[in-house]
Amino acid sequence: MNTFLDQLDIRRTINGCGIYTDLGGSRLSETVVHAMLDVNKDFVQLKPLLDGSGAWIASQFGAEAARVTPGAAAAIMLGTAACLAGQDGNKSEQLPDLTCMKSRVLIQSVHRYKYDRQATMSGAKLTEYGGAQGNSTAQLEEALAANDAAMILHPIHLDEVEGSLRLEDVVKIARPHGVPVFVDAAYMVFPTNLMATYIERGADLVAISSKYYGGPNAGGFIMGRADLVKAVSNVHFTAYESGTTLKYGRPLKMDRHTIVAVCVALEEWLNLDHDARHRHYDRQVQVLKQDIAGITGLSSEPKCFTMDERFIDEPVNALLITVDAAKTGKSAQAMADALFDQQPCIAVIQEDDKIGVVVEVLTDSEVIKIGEAIRNAL
Ligand SMILES: *Cc1c(COP(=O)(O)O)cnc(C)c1O
Repeated sequence: MNTFLDQLDIRRTINGCGIYTDLGGSRLSETVVHAMLDVNKDFVQLKPLLDGSGAWIASQFGAEAARVTPGAAAAIMLGTAACLAGQDGNKSEQLPDLTCMKSRVLIQSVHRYKYDRQATMSGAKLTEYGGAQGNSTAQLEEALAANDAAMILHPIHLDEVEGSLRLEDVVKIARPHGVPVFVDAAYMVFPTNLMATYIERGADLVAISSKYYGGPNAGGFIMGRADLVKAVSNVHFTAYESGTTLKYGRPLKMDRHTIVAVCVALEEWLNLDHDARHRHYDRQVQVLKQDIAGITGLSSEPKCFTMDERFIDEPVNALLITVDAAKTGKSAQAMADALFDQQPCIAVIQEDDKIGVVVEVLTDSEVIKIGEAIRNAL
């Protein structure tokens, strides 16, 4: 069948890298797609849909409130805007002009990361505290004393890096100043009980991305304090056309299909048999390992490719293949390029003399195709 992809000559890609935005995020389950088709049949009013879905998400984690957003990056942007404007519609309209508002978002010097710039889209200045040696509670006190910080951004995957203040320490100091702590926990979706822990540890707002739990690539949610989530709705897109103020977050609008999909995928994820999911990865990795076992110059080992892009031992979701170029006649880089040039294109992780095949979003038949393609490439 000649599909739209064929019409545009867009190459289909076998994704052996795992969950990456540029590769489309995750694969939606039949249940999620079905829910999107179902909600397509009828119109709904988005305000009650956002309120209801938010309340449902909050109830899953014991949070006061929550709201679906078009991803975790959008949640950082909206959360920052909410901390600046609060529930004031005129301030929402005024952003990113911060005249007569607080103007800074604080971040630890050892916490700078790829997504921190989303906090600046609101007009706020991202201000580092601490130095190359790390961050002290005294430095945080000093940064807060200026009384112009609207929020502290705390990427939780960096909570334990050297020199970092822990979330608990940050919360303890920030709270008397009334400055909310925003935790980016975009990929902390497994074990599933992890998601609720940041609120228990004192975070005021927490962002999760649905791309990591089988939801839409452009989906996610923010949860936390009721007043702040209410402020998020004040800066988000509804009642832009019908309301009295031109709200800041109008470009971050969402359709009903995505809002529903973010929740249905979350429900599936929370109820999923994750042991079975891991056994499935184990089996797929073994299939690929056996498949390439006879090839001279290749050796392989089951590994876990982590969300922060490291290979560790467990839980297995990938096969790490070491390429002995002297024996195969091809470097790992040349092999990865050859796989990428196949039809369909095969995308894998490539580092040094190694190729990593992550099975997380692969079907069984795709695993077989990758084995064939590796043989063909040599
Ligand atoms: C992917 C990611 C984001 C952005 O999430 P989106 O839902 O794609 O906007 C933010 N923070 C971290 C740590 C991420 O891994």
